[in-house]
Amino acid sequence: MKNEVLKYLLKMEAEQLSPGTSGNISMRDSSSGLIAISPSGLEYKSLTHEDIVIIDLDGKIVEGSNRPSSEMDFHLALYRERSDCQAVVHTHSHFATTLACLGKELPAVHYMIAYAGEKVPLANYHTFGTPELAQEISKKIQNYYALLMENHGVLAIGPSLKYAYNCAASVEFVAQIYLQAMQVGTPKILSSVQMQEVMAKFKNYGQK
Ligand SMILES: [Zn+2]
Repeated sequence: MKNEVLKYLLKMEAEQLSPGTSGNISMRDSSSGLIAISPSGLEYKSLTHEDIVIIDLDGKIVEGSNRPSSEMDFHLALYRERSDCQAVVHTHSHFATTLACLGKELPAVHYMIAYAGEKVPLANYHTFGTPELAQEISKKIQNYYALLMENHGVLAIGPSLKYAYNCAASVEFVAQIYLQAMQVGTPKILSSVQMQEVMAKFKNYGQK
């Protein structure tokens, strides 16, 4: 798990999905229930797998000498809220965060939003790292796989770290398209029926 979290932190840095050390990533081991989470405030490039912290569902450090991510509380809230959540990816990606700073949710302007659901709802603003923010996120996630966080950023979850990462990247792509489309006119939004069709196809897409 430590290697997997490190791999995706480096990928996030290489693909410039979150500036500086702003993003954080965690994943849960389905058998032990333990969680591997990125450390707080360290440069990703200099990390080794030893720097990734192992915590339990109460946030108690089981292994590692670093402090876990300052956003640990909402990672834990998501694992408690959703039994199908096995990974959390949090970014401050530019376009999705721009939308979150306008206090807007992301509608289905492109079918790739299906990773997240029929849309990406907006969670109201609370100071980072607070129990209030964790509470707001666990209330707003419902059956979605991503949320915009008002005046803050994006979070994505999934049954695997690969899914959660792809979901965060798709939210950023769709947010960019949405903002660009709004520069020129009024974007056409896909209907609920059209999105249900895409989401059904996504279940069977790719290599079996
Ligand atoms: Zn953040």
